[in-house]
Amino acid sequence: MAKKTVRDIDVAGKRVLVRVDFNVPLKEGAVRDDTRIRAALPTITYLLEQGAKVILTSHLGRPKKQPKEGLVLNPVAERLAELLKKPVKKLDDLTGATVETVVADMKPGEVVLLENSRFDPREEKNDPSLGEELARLADIYVDDAFGTAHRAHATTAGVAEHLPSVSGFLMQKELDALSTLVTAPGRPFVVVLGGAKVTDKIGVIEAFLDIADDILIGGAMAFTFYKAKGWATGSSLVEDEEGVAVAKRILDKAATAYCNLLLPKDVVVADKMEAEAQTKTVAADQITEGWMGLDIGPATAAAYAAKIAAADEVFWNGPMGVFELAPFAAGTKAVAEAMAECKGMTIVGGGDSVAAVNQFGLAGKMTHVSTGGGASLEYIENGGVLPGVTVLQDKPEA
Ligand code: ADP
Ligand code: MG
Repeated sequence: MAKKTVRDIDVAGKRVLVRVDFNVPLKEGAVRDDTRIRAALPTITYLLEQGAKVILTSHLGRPKKQPKEGLVLNPVAERLAELLKKPVKKLDDLTGATVETVVADMKPGEVVLLENSRFDPREEKNDPSLGEELARLADIYVDDAFGTAHRAHATTAGVAEHLPSVSGFLMQKELDALSTLVTAPGRPFVVVLGGAKVTDKIGVIEAFLDIADDILIGGAMAFTFYKAKGWATGSSLVEDEEGVAVAKRILDKAATAYCNLLLPKDVVVADKMEAEAQTKTVAADQITEGWMGLDIGPATAAAYAAKIAAADEVFWNGPMGVFELAPFAAGTKAVAEAMAECKGMTIVGGGDSVAAVNQFGLAGKMTHVSTGGGASLEYIENGGVLPGVTVLQDKPEA
């Protein structure tokens, strides 16, 4: 069901609390990459043009539930002010008396940025008292942080229980792109999964077995499947027994599923994870002691590229290899290039996968580059349900 957006609600003169994703990389007290701040500008600018009072909230990093000097949002406020070409009042707290006074004095068209939400130990617990305190600051809640929508935190879910809640433009764009994946994907629908975080991603494979035509496996995840098949994996990164058991279950399910689950048939192995390592390409079941698999092999890359070329919809999460090191980047590059040339709809999600696509200069060739890796996977795994999305008002059926 489509969600209401900022366009569907009257915001003029209202205090609007906007959950943004300003979790940006910092360097020496300044914002190193402002992509996420820029991504939030359409919603913020729209609200300001409509005469709203804009109160922004975000987390930054992992401050362990208490204030941490290096993670205050001051550099973010400075960068945002430059981009908006107007002052941004940065507060030193998330809620409380001072914040309430400042917000009460705000005029339409003004912007306030609250302090890092994760400094408050109640944020990640979604403590109802924090949701209530946040709600006191505003008349309307807007969620524009898709990347944290899979977390039921106070700023992403709790506060929404008390206010009329709608999506921002960035959130809307994500939901529009991803909703077709779970409802009516183009066919053939090809899913490419790789990366290092196997346990996080294994659940989504089961969901995809029911909706995709082909699942192409790469990255470290492949070796847990090899282990489940009883093949030697040398010193490759593999999951513990529990992960291997899950991989076995998925292989069993795949055996009778309509969907094809493809594992790499050849692998680039190395004696160490370094650019100067000794490397060779071996068949999947021929990894020997002392060697670690760090990329899919050329035969696999070609087979995966052919599947992608023929697809009408492709979803990709997780690099095929250690693409950060040149000798192990070819598999990831082959997938990115095939997607760039694919005529169908192409969606990339995941911090490192997006970094890889940027590194190859191919981001502009994708239909959609998702800002949320974990969130996009959970969205698909749960059939389009996320805590931060459920709380938003539904758009009435046309
Ligand atoms: P994403 O951020 O796109 O969701 P992950 O965080 O799961 O992806 O994984 C990205 C990391 O996986 C990259 O840093 C890459 O070097 C690593 N990786 C990929 N293949 C392998 C492999 N075979 N062995 C070890 N690490 C790998
Ligand atoms: Mg990552």
